[in-house]
Amino acid sequence: MSRRKLTRQQRWRVEKVQAERAERANRRAERDDAALEAGAHGAERPGRVAAHFGRSLEVEARDAEGALTRHRCHLRANLEGLVTGDRVVWREAADATGVVVARGERSSVLERPDARAQMRPVAANIDQILIVVASEPAPYGNLIDRYLVAAENTGIAPVLVLNKSDLLPDQGGDARELLSRYAALGYTVIEASARVDHGLGALHEQLDGRTSVFVGQSGVGKSSLIDRLLPEETLRIGALSEESRKGKHTTTTARLYPLPRDGEAGAVREGDLIDSPGIREFGLWHLDEQQIAEGFIEFRPFLDACRFRDCRHRAEPGCALLDAVERGAIHPQRFASFQRIRDDVASG
Ligand code: GDP
Ligand code: ZN
Repeated sequence: MSRRKLTRQQRWRVEKVQAERAERANRRAERDDAALEAGAHGAERPGRVAAHFGRSLEVEARDAEGALTRHRCHLRANLEGLVTGDRVVWREAADATGVVVARGERSSVLERPDARAQMRPVAANIDQILIVVASEPAPYGNLIDRYLVAAENTGIAPVLVLNKSDLLPDQGGDARELLSRYAALGYTVIEASARVDHGLGALHEQLDGRTSVFVGQSGVGKSSLIDRLLPEETLRIGALSEESRKGKHTTTTARLYPLPRDGEAGAVREGDLIDSPGIREFGLWHLDEQQIAEGFIEFRPFLDACRFRDCRHRAEPGCALLDAVERGAIHPQRFASFQRIRDDVASG
């Protein structure tokens, strides 16, 4: 496949368009700065980035009555790299738009490689990653471990959701048995069904007061669960404006959705979901052997106990990890999973 070369004239046109765009953004930033200095904006207020479109943001805030409002905001010229979920300080203009003047500290950040394999933040201040699995499609081999290792390395707490509980037998079942192993490791496991309204209360409780993302293999029911959790009202608040819907960033931008508490008429906001196709594809990016091993939480007590400092836990004498597997302190399937992930990442 040959990539079409741009003619000089085409290249010149592209550059011209880009320069004009940058110029417009700069002019707007200057106007905003001038307006700020002239006192044309309201007082500084806290807010949170709900979506991001190029140099313009949607900021969610609370008005004087405590109701959630959304404001189209521009950035100050010196503010770059804001992502959905960022906490910001902003000032409102007379027309309800605003200017973001500062970014708060991030408690966590989710990253993904961009088209040039550079890691880029896609969302910030996430409290938990809900890894959704189902009996159908059955979680293959070490899929759950891959998600867990990736989550453990972001420092964001993973939670396992076994969806499609309506397809499970009353007792037992392969998927349930598999997940009980993770519960034994200390992970929270929630059984739910988007179809028959089972376990959604437990799910709401888990989501309460936290910012969450859903990840998992295609077909496990992420969309179905999210549809259940976000009533129409919330979806409307989160709906893209006409302008941004036509924009080309809409397919990849992550969005923040406020979650009302289950069953409460006043829809008290108790948590948020951040969702985008990119976030759902969350995976193992650029981890080294040590990080992979540490992603298996039950390995941690053994990792410093091997006889050799640079033990790779393959066949070394005095390997504390191999010994733990031998003694039954580590499940052989988790150890096999570790080896597979390590070898895949090394060869990939
Ligand atoms: P996603 O790819 O993870 O977003 O999965 P979807 O939400 O698109 O669901 C995939 C398929 O599973 C659809 O046909 C859903 O109707 C079905 N599905 C989702 N949740 C459940 C559930 O709890 N029980 C059953 N039986 N099917 C479900
Ligand atoms: Zn070892």
